[in-house]
Amino acid sequence: MNIECFRNPVVPLRRRGARTRSRLSVDAAVHAAQPTEPMLCLRPETLVAEAERFCAAFRGTVLYAVKCNPDPAVLHALVRGGVRHFDCASLTEVRLVRRLFPEAGIHFMHPVKSRPAIREAFACHGVRTYVLDSSAELDKILDETDYARDLGLVVRLALPKGEARLDLSGKFGAAPAEATRLLGAARAVAARVGVSFHVGSQCLTPTAYERGVALAGRVVRAAGVAPDIFDVGGGFPVAYPDSVPPPLADIVAAIDGAVARLALPETCAVWCEPGRALVAAGQSLVVQVLARRGRFLYINDGIYGTLADAGALNFRYPCRLIRNGRSATGGGLEAFGLFGPTCDSADRMDGPFLLPGDVAEGDWIELGQLGAYGAVLRTGFNGFDQIHRIEVGDPPLIATPDETLPDERSAVVKGVCAA
Ligand SMILES: *Cc1c(COP(=O)(O)O)cnc(C)c1O
Repeated sequence: MNIECFRNPVVPLRRRGARTRSRLSVDAAVHAAQPTEPMLCLRPETLVAEAERFCAAFRGTVLYAVKCNPDPAVLHALVRGGVRHFDCASLTEVRLVRRLFPEAGIHFMHPVKSRPAIREAFACHGVRTYVLDSSAELDKILDETDYARDLGLVVRLALPKGEARLDLSGKFGAAPAEATRLLGAARAVAARVGVSFHVGSQCLTPTAYERGVALAGRVVRAAGVAPDIFDVGGGFPVAYPDSVPPPLADIVAAIDGAVARLALPETCAVWCEPGRALVAAGQSLVVQVLARRGRFLYINDGIYGTLADAGALNFRYPCRLIRNGRSATGGGLEAFGLFGPTCDSADRMDGPFLLPGDVAEGDWIELGQLGAYGAVLRTGFNGFDQIHRIEVGDPPLIATPDETLPDERSAVVKGVCAA
């Protein structure tokens, strides 16, 4: 089994050495390897199925947001599942996707780009769609593409702060009046124009999409332009133990209904940019327990590794104990907090994570739904930069809503944390 180091979030994801092709189960792999470093378990079939499901549900063009998980094995699986377009935010992502998929649609969806990135994306990688949220960025794009006649320019609209788990309203996006002006300016110079927004990541409310669509519709109408692209962004949610998403069909129906009310031109394409929803289920993480102290487990991965969102954002992941090569359930489920391996006391994940009460040093824990914003966020802080990666044939380890804890159980963990 190969071990990889993640000093840089994108480049080191290339494989070194032989690739594990056979589809082991997670349990068999743990039993055989007894891994003492964390182990990422990729589920290619799950990724293919999730991509197929999403592409079938969404009536429009699906762009995968590469930042969520740029592992080439993930990208290949998504393409097998029908994804043909990619939302890239950096030149490294653009180069990666172009190297893997000469035919793919690559769209530069970051509203603030460096000049060399625009120039190379345009001149070397065939990128024609660029997002902007200011007239300075519009000028920059025109400069660096030598006033090309075949650009698609998409104006990113700011949304008011919503209820999504991760708010994305504070950094990018033009206010409606400015977006209206920018759309008009783009129309004068671009082959195609469009509008986009992002409701925030892990957005559980279909009405957030309806409000975004309605606001974008008002901007389009005020600008008096016929858009070619209407992009409803990402944010599509997945299940975590404390977060039960509405069915994708409900969100898509809300978007369809809101878009239909705008009576856009028939030639206008509807786009979306899912990240999390396509890849979360496609990868899990196996960690080992290094020590147990009361309700806290010291494990070999943490917030500077694959579990960044379990820290400050307090994400909870579905989990199970692996002992003697199989799922262990001894002692009934209890609530635990986790400490990561680094010396930083912030390297702590309060969860709570539900595990058998007799969990002990040497046991392994599998955490699910880590295909999204997991491995890509790893750093080498404190020297904890080693990880195994394998491909498995298991069904995804996903959360069941009944894992939500009674209050007094989570209070146990919170109490330990406060101490
Ligand atoms: C991060 C991001 C996405 C993906 O968001 P998810 O919540 O993972 O679906 C899509 N579009 C843009 C512009 C983003 O920044």
